[in-house]
Parts: sequence; C-alpha cells; structure tokens
Amino acid sequence: MGAFELMGGEYEQVVYNHDHLSGLKAIIAIHSTALGPALGGTRFYPYATEADALRDVLRLARGMSYKAAAAGLDLGGGKAVIIGDPKRIKTEALLRAHGRFVESLGGRYITAEDVGTFSADMDLVARETRFVTGRSILNGGGGDPSINTAYGVFKGMCAVAEELWQEHELAGRHVVVQGVGKVGYELCRVLHEAGVRLTVADVDLDNVARAVADFGAETADSNKVHAVPCDIFAPCALGAVVDDDTVTELACAAVAGSANNVLALPEHGRALRELGILYAPDYVINAGGLINVADELGGYSAERARTNVEKIFGNLRMIFHRAKEQGIPTSEAADQLAEERMRDVSRIELLRIPNPGR
Ligand code: NAD
Repeated sequence: MGAFELMGGEYEQVVYNHDHLSGLKAIIAIHSTALGPALGGTRFYPYATEADALRDVLRLARGMSYKAAAAGLDLGGGKAVIIGDPKRIKTEALLRAHGRFVESLGGRYITAEDVGTFSADMDLVARETRFVTGRSILNGGGGDPSINTAYGVFKGMCAVAEELWQEHELAGRHVVVQGVGKVGYELCRVLHEAGVRLTVADVDLDNVARAVADFGAETADSNKVHAVPCDIFAPCALGAVVDDDTVTELACAAVAGSANNVLALPEHGRALRELGILYAPDYVINAGGLINVADELGGYSAERARTNVEKIFGNLRMIFHRAKEQGIPTSEAADQLAEERMRDVSRIELLRIPNPGR
C-alpha cells in the first residue's frame, strides 16, 4: 500500500527527510492539529522496511491525537520515527539534523523522547529547534516522564477502585504488574507505599529481582502473568496483551496499566466487557507522560504537571460513567469522548477572527 492509501483521508501530513551526511532517515506524521500543534515523541528503531516505519508512525500519530484529546490538552497528534539502530547510528549530527527537520514544520509538530531516544537526545535536538519537549531538568525540561506516567496509572487505578468497590484506597488489593521497567518499577513503588500486595513478571530477571528486593513483590512466569488471579492486572511492557488467547485466561477484576495498544483488536474491548472485567483505556490512563512533557511548553512546573496528571482520575470516572450509561465498552466510550472533543473544540476556531497572527 502506498502512503496516500495508508493515510486514508484521515491524516493531515506525512513528511520524509533523508540527511545524507549524518545518515538520518526520518518520517514525521501529523494526524491532527484540530486541538493544537501535534505533539508526539521520536521513536528510533531498526525497522525492517520503510513500509514498516510508515505504518508505525501513522498508527502512533493517530494514537497521540486521541491521547491528547482525552487528557484535555490543547494539542494534536503526531509522531516521528528515525529508521536505524540507535546503538549504532545515533550521533550528535544525526540528532541535530532531526532537530532541523522538526523545525522545518514551523511548529505544526512538536517532538519528545520515545523508544530509543532520551532527554539527553532532546537536549541536542533542541539546539536546532524550539519545537521540542522531554528535555532534561538542567535544560528547563521536565525530566523522565515515566514518573508521571506511573503516577497517572496509580490515579487511574484509584478510579477503578471507586467504580468497582466504591473505595478510593487500594490498600489490601492485589495488583499484578507485567513489566517492571521505567514505568512498571515506579508504579510498584507508589502501590507499595499505598499498601498494595504486588506480583511482578519481567523477561529481564534483574528488573524482577529489584522489585522483589525493594517492594517484597511476589513473582510470576512472564508467559502466564496475565492469568494470575488478582484485583488489577497492569500491563506495563508490551502492546496487544489482551488477544483472542489471553482474554479468556484473565483472572482479574480490571485491566489498568501503562502499555500502549493493550487490546490486540477493538473487539477485545467488547470481550472484556462481556467477561465483566473493567478496562481502563490505555491512552487515557497512560497520559501522565504526555501531560508532563506538554507542561514544558508553558515553562515547566513540576507541581502543575502533577496536578494535571491527577485529572486522569476524573477522566476515567467520566468514561466509566458513559460506558455504563450507554452499555458500551469503556474503550469505545473513550474514543467517543476524544472524537467529540476534537470535533467540538476545534469548531470554536470558526468564531475566531481571521488571521489572528498566531
Ligand atoms: P521499559 O522498556 O523501561 O520497560 C518495559 C519492561 O517490560 C522492561 O523491563 C522489559 O524487560 C519488560 N518486558 C518486555 N517484554 C516483556 C514480556 N514479554 N513480559 C514481561 N515483561 C516484558 O518501558 P517503559 O518506559 O517502562 O514503558 C512501558 C510501557 O508503557 C510501554 O508499552 C510504553 O509504550 C508505555 N508507556 C510508557 C510511557 C513512559 O512515560 N515511559 C508513557 C506512556 C506509555
């Protein structure tokens, strides 16, 4: 399929850049600027083919539109991918070339860190463009967004507790965390402090050992972790964790974690509902990192970022309420809310004076 066909009339813009000298091969996709400039990280990954990179950047850019809309931010959705192995080809020259690429879009796209890129990389990108977030604290940024992603997931779990058990506390509950990397480990820390019983699984045994030593977590086989009986199953590793095979094996009351694209297919949202398992839609509960980087645009305030991350509780409460009222899966309720906001809020543009000089 060609780029136009893949864009399907839904995307605003896709731009390619090849900087021969540094070896940069990058694609930026802008899904929507209905609510504001498109913000989304730069993923640096050794895609097998250009087509794989294009498909990924389109999918991720669309996800960012929904995430920003559901989080109540004045931002649209976009994403960048750099093709190649970051361990082999990442250099100052390449990152600065990427910065110039981002700058060339004049602010329609704002970048940040993602898989394969870090705050230090964004500091280099920032030497070529104003349109970058996720910078180090030393350079006026908000530092590692994973801390606020984890805090947002914790707040989301509190909304789950309210919905399922009419409680605002998680103490005494059993949470199973799949993947104890940056977000999963921090989530375990917050849950441990809240008096939660933890079970963890990770393919990286050092990460498992760290969670056991620091939080007294129990452990589970990483192939079967989804089937451990618990109150909340928190996928914090991979996408597509809920699929045809796993959905019937789940033994939890709720699925609520940081991973992107938790449902292999939209119909798995319906399957969870039919099984009586409450699903906290991924892009709503994991928006803490986006809220954190977005805060940099107004001059970073850790206090303000955290206060805004706490709104994830209310956002999920609204989605659970709508899903119940309409008898639909929570995943559909989240999509509806995001789509309504993109449509309704962008319409106010019509009321603005022409050429407002923004
Ligand atoms: P990370 O790479 O630091 O951690 C992921 C962990 O999962 C690693 O410890 C890895 O060993 C483990 N893992 C990989 N495959 C596994 C498997 N099959 N079973 C069990 N564990 C496995 O990544 P992260 O930044 O903590 O992100 C975790 C998830 O949350 C990802 O899906 C990411 O897209 C999503 N997310 C992260 C952020 C953020 O701020 N970092 C924001 C939004 C969403």
